[in-house]
Amino acid sequence: MQSFVFPGNIDESIMAIGAKPFMYMRTDAFSAINKESERILLNLIHCTGGRTIIYTGSGTGAMSAVVENYVTTKKKAFVIDGGSFGHRWFQLCEYYGVDAYDYKVPFAKDIDYDDMERTLAEEKPDVFLCQHHETSSGQLFDLKKISEICHEYGVSLVVDVISSFLAEPLSMDELDIDICITSTQKGLNIPPGLSVLFFSKKLDGYVFGHKGYYWDFDDNFSNLRRGQTPFSPATILFLQLNARLKQLEAEGGEQRNIDDVRHRAEFFRNLCREYGWSVPAETPSNAITGFQTKDNESRKVFKGLMEKYDTYIMPGGIPGFYRVSHMGLQSDEDLRVLAQRIHEFEGYGNK
Ligand SMILES: *Cc1c(COP(=O)(O)O)cnc(C)c1O
Repeated sequence: MQSFVFPGNIDESIMAIGAKPFMYMRTDAFSAINKESERILLNLIHCTGGRTIIYTGSGTGAMSAVVENYVTTKKKAFVIDGGSFGHRWFQLCEYYGVDAYDYKVPFAKDIDYDDMERTLAEEKPDVFLCQHHETSSGQLFDLKKISEICHEYGVSLVVDVISSFLAEPLSMDELDIDICITSTQKGLNIPPGLSVLFFSKKLDGYVFGHKGYYWDFDDNFSNLRRGQTPFSPATILFLQLNARLKQLEAEGGEQRNIDDVRHRAEFFRNLCREYGWSVPAETPSNAITGFQTKDNESRKVFKGLMEKYDTYIMPGGIPGFYRVSHMGLQSDEDLRVLAQRIHEFEGYGNK
């Protein structure tokens, strides 16, 4: 199987952990692993003196946790709605009854930052919710500009970096971000099932809300002080996460991984140009390439690749629009063959 979806092709030594007997989690050994994972995670995202919570749950669980515990303590949220993930922030606010302004950004477009600033000045929110990378289109937003505007208006910044962590340069310290979230099946390139919240040191002592039992921040923090979780963790995934983090640390941090992801993205976009596929994102991320093929039948390319070559890419919401992830192991040759095969299927059935 060849995987160009999330999390992509996974390192064999990481996969092998899933096939072995695993430790009991209520032990000092498991606590030590969690404390080590927290330390490496904070280094990778440059969050000096911060804290993490690692949940057994997908990325949306972490988004929900942020709204339940943090956004509900605020008066008004400002949401960047540039696609299905941005819209999810808005839906969560509605679900928990938080007053939220839904700032819509057209598909695959960058934010008009001047207009956004004017709107924000009128709406007077006290918390800002956005994605670094809107994965549904491949559009990357400018966190530096967002951070400057939030800072100027005294708005707390929360960023979903689920699909940009380890794919784009990112420093919570420099950007003055209060909370970031990610999950294991994207840039970390291990199986789905865990999500990670990063808390700036500025939130030490913050009085969080308690709107959900399972994701309660205070309950998690008090357990994590000794490296434990309030409920049964997905132990194998915690071990795979720790092993992956140690690999990244041995590589000297996140930079090599980011460079590799960027290289694959650039390489594949050259192939897109060769085959005449447009990349609609105004500022495309390294994490994925979203591209428009000539396939005007629903999912022709997706099905063809899967059935003939046991190869997976991500279908998009628009006919002929597909996304290829650059997370995970892939060589230039893999990408060259993939592009050839996409081309093989894109013409079929289009009359
Ligand atoms: C993948 C992703 C999520 C979370 O999706 P889950 O399926 O819940 O893991 C949230 N935000 C972004 C930007 C994502 O790419």
